[in-house]
Amino acid sequence: MNNSKNVLHYMFGKGSIDKLEDILKDKKSENQYTVYYIDEYFQNNELLNKLPVKEEDEIFFVQTKDEPKTEFINKFRDILVEKGKNKPKAIVAIGGGATLDTGKAVANLLTNPGNAEDYQGWDLVKNPAIYKIGIPTISGTGAEASRTCVMTNTKSGLKLGMNSDFTIYDQLILDPNLTKTVPRDQYFYTGMDTYIHSFESLNGKYRNAIGDAYAKQAIALCREVFLSDDMMSDENREKLMIASYFGGCAIANSFVGVVHPFSAGLSVVFGTHHCIGNCITMNAMEEFYPKEYEEFFKMAEKQDVIIPKGIATDLSDETYLALYNSTVIHEKPLSNALGDDFKNKLTLEKVTEIFKRM
Ligand code: NAD
Ligand code: ZN
Repeated sequence: MNNSKNVLHYMFGKGSIDKLEDILKDKKSENQYTVYYIDEYFQNNELLNKLPVKEEDEIFFVQTKDEPKTEFINKFRDILVEKGKNKPKAIVAIGGGATLDTGKAVANLLTNPGNAEDYQGWDLVKNPAIYKIGIPTISGTGAEASRTCVMTNTKSGLKLGMNSDFTIYDQLILDPNLTKTVPRDQYFYTGMDTYIHSFESLNGKYRNAIGDAYAKQAIALCREVFLSDDMMSDENREKLMIASYFGGCAIANSFVGVVHPFSAGLSVVFGTHHCIGNCITMNAMEEFYPKEYEEFFKMAEKQDVIIPKGIATDLSDETYLALYNSTVIHEKPLSNALGDDFKNKLTLEKVTEIFKRM
């Protein structure tokens, strides 16, 4: 039985980012400087003028071309150690899933010895992290709510987060004004992450009433947003921010299903980003999730978003084998969806056929 932890504090509403200064002021600490990780999109953005940055603070812009790697996290830690800035009073992460995960991982690493790759797994983090504040600027992954921070270890190829209660944000600021500038396609792909992992968890065999309740509400909000005329209206950006948060809570209480392992295969073999990878995978998911498949494409059509197709139709046997290996390694979600004998159902031949359909 899980003894679940949630984010301790959250503030929600348009303009709530203006409260960051008060939150930081209230935080008692031995040191007074703050370290910021900010999505590179905001590098020359007026948002920076709104932040209560002081001279002694450190700001790092997080690139999003590649999803986080353990070596990036180690590097961020090393820079802070070199500057003598490794005991900040707070870490503030402002951005999408990649940036939120970076803030979480660095906060853990500053209080625990070794390197980021030493903590990929479940409950390996021993010491509480640096106090951290998450401020999402795009909605869908649930990274703001979850107890993990996904990273790839380039040496081993392992893509796994630091699953720990210490990884959960201490404070969130959920300000729907911040998602106004997200490109429409990206808004859809990332938003769909919460829809997809919520229906995966509801269709699985490891269920519990709390996870189900969060997942159902996340799906209901996604329907309101993505079946409406304008998914990016003020009201819909608010709703999607909540759907993302609920989806993150849902997944903390249950497991994903067939979509995420296939998407992870694309990510490991081609470097496809998580959210667009899920959407590409949906092209081949009709047999597993017929109702959701239909609804997903109805939403894409309604919002006039194109889901890329055909990225894995004509590949070598070696590449299909690599895709197969990096898909079936995800035993927990696949047995959640298909039963403990999932490998009898997902043979190399079958997995290849599914990738070809994407
Ligand atoms: P992202 O962080 O990869 O960003 C996507 C793009 O949107 C980037 O180009 C970014 O610059 C841009 N962007 C973000 N906010 C913007 C804004 N307000 N205006 C304009 N552009 C903006 O996006 P994501 O899809 O939120 O996150 C994907 C990452 O999240 C992956 O690394 C994935 O592994 C991780 N993830 C983590 C969890 C978790 O529980 N920790 C769950 C799912 C996914
Ligand atoms: Zn996801």
